[in-house]
Amino acid sequence: MTPQFDAVIVGAGFGGMGAAIALAQLGYSRLSILEREDDLGGTWHVNRYPGLAVDIASVTYSYSFEPNPNWTRLFAPGAELKSYAEHVAAKYDLRRSMRFGVVVERAEWDEHQQLWTVSIAGGETVTSRFLVTATGFLSQPYTPDFPGIEDFAGKIIHTTAWDQTHDFVGEKAAIIGTGATAVQLIPEIASRAHELTVFQRTPIWVVPKVDFAIPPVVRRLFARVPLTQRMARSVNNTILEGIMVVGVLHFRQAKMMNRAAALAARAHLRVSVRSKATRKALTPHYDFGCKRPTFSNKYFRTFNRGNTRLETTSIERFEPDAVVTTDGRRTPIDTLVLATGFNLWDVNFPALQIVGREGRDLGQWWRDNRFQAYEGIAIPKFPNLLSLNSPYSYSGLSYFTTIESQMAHMRRLLGELQRRDAATFEVTDRANAEFLDAVTEKLGDSVFYEGKCSSSRSYYFNQHGEAALLRPTSTSNSFHAASTFPLTDYEFA
Ligand code: NAP
Repeated sequence: MTPQFDAVIVGAGFGGMGAAIALAQLGYSRLSILEREDDLGGTWHVNRYPGLAVDIASVTYSYSFEPNPNWTRLFAPGAELKSYAEHVAAKYDLRRSMRFGVVVERAEWDEHQQLWTVSIAGGETVTSRFLVTATGFLSQPYTPDFPGIEDFAGKIIHTTAWDQTHDFVGEKAAIIGTGATAVQLIPEIASRAHELTVFQRTPIWVVPKVDFAIPPVVRRLFARVPLTQRMARSVNNTILEGIMVVGVLHFRQAKMMNRAAALAARAHLRVSVRSKATRKALTPHYDFGCKRPTFSNKYFRTFNRGNTRLETTSIERFEPDAVVTTDGRRTPIDTLVLATGFNLWDVNFPALQIVGREGRDLGQWWRDNRFQAYEGIAIPKFPNLLSLNSPYSYSGLSYFTTIESQMAHMRRLLGELQRRDAATFEVTDRANAEFLDAVTEKLGDSVFYEGKCSSSRSYYFNQHGEAALLRPTSTSNSFHAASTFPLTDYEFA
């Protein structure tokens, strides 16, 4: 039976679009990109809260092969990322392959027919030669189950479902969470609400954000001489490689780098917040890099405002008009914002049920064994599957580094498949085991195992305490490996 599609790609964010571009360049034209949301852009379509912006400079946080000279700021606002996604989709003619509002529930490898059968909510099934899952890491919103929250009579807004009509003016607001999302949002709510209480469980490392509007003359220069933007990208990549990759992954060897980043964050806090007690409460008690640090010039200063209070006592329960902390204090509120992030390890690895050869269920197998994926993209017994958001795939530098190295992996792998005129590829058990051993050993040098991370509550760690998200190599190694991995690591049939 001829499958309906060359490839089904689940997810129309930057990962899925990158995969579609790579597949089209390889000559695969029958693509179906299935997206749960009502438009493309992934994170940048879903997240629309005030203050949303990239926190990796835009010269880096974009496809290197599709530079955008029109970013208005060094750290572009979220709406510009959504426009950039639309531009990419238009330029590479991707929209015609996309379907929106389509929830993929299950995919099963049909060994007899040598194809994937993909089941969509509502009963439809489609068949495809390749399956690419590009469902993102941070795509399943997490809402804690606080006692009494169902009786709370005010408004509740999760940051991934922002209500644009809600203005907070004159309100008593509360926000739960102090991750990268909250850091962007808190200054915005504080400037509108009458009162804001910030419920913090774990403080976050925040380093200053060297942000500025990119003058039109520089934008014109970027457009006319693309080399200048490439140079800006290289400089920024080098800085980030030091802070986010070397300082975190090579903590044992480069403690100084890590300590310098922590020092910069501490100094930033010292000069930004007047109250000593608040500074103390905002100081992380775990090493820099155990959980993802963030960049902001506004976050710390917000705690100097008369209307903003940091609350570190744990939440015990909700009442219809208040939050009650474990010391019995009531904080009356009108609106509750949940900046409580995402569930990665319980529901997102993988985001749909995937059944491979011999009935192997990927989610079950990962949980019964260890979370693992060869080069963060392929898994034994799953022929013709490219799982983009896999354990050990995430580059510390930028998500676009992950995407582009995976595109390079696809080019090498599928190029070989075409040369051999083969129908299927499947990574060998040996290659997968060797990769897992190698990353496990490398991670031994990282801040995750060498540093003090136990109190960080970081989503980098899974339920078994393994830091199985980041690829523990330099960015250049990611690209090198993606274009030179031994072809004998795969079986082609
Ligand atoms: P997050 O980093 O997972 O933060 C969730 C926050 O909610 C944490 O402070 C967490 O506290 C708190 N929380 C969760 N459950 C709680 C509970 N039951 N009680 C009290 N507090 C609770 O999520 P996020 O802020 O949405 O950011 C996720 C990631 O998205 C970031 O790390 C970043 O990679 C990305 N992001 C990027 C940008 C950007 O580039 N512009 C912006 C936003 C986000 P604990 O720490 O104690 O668990």
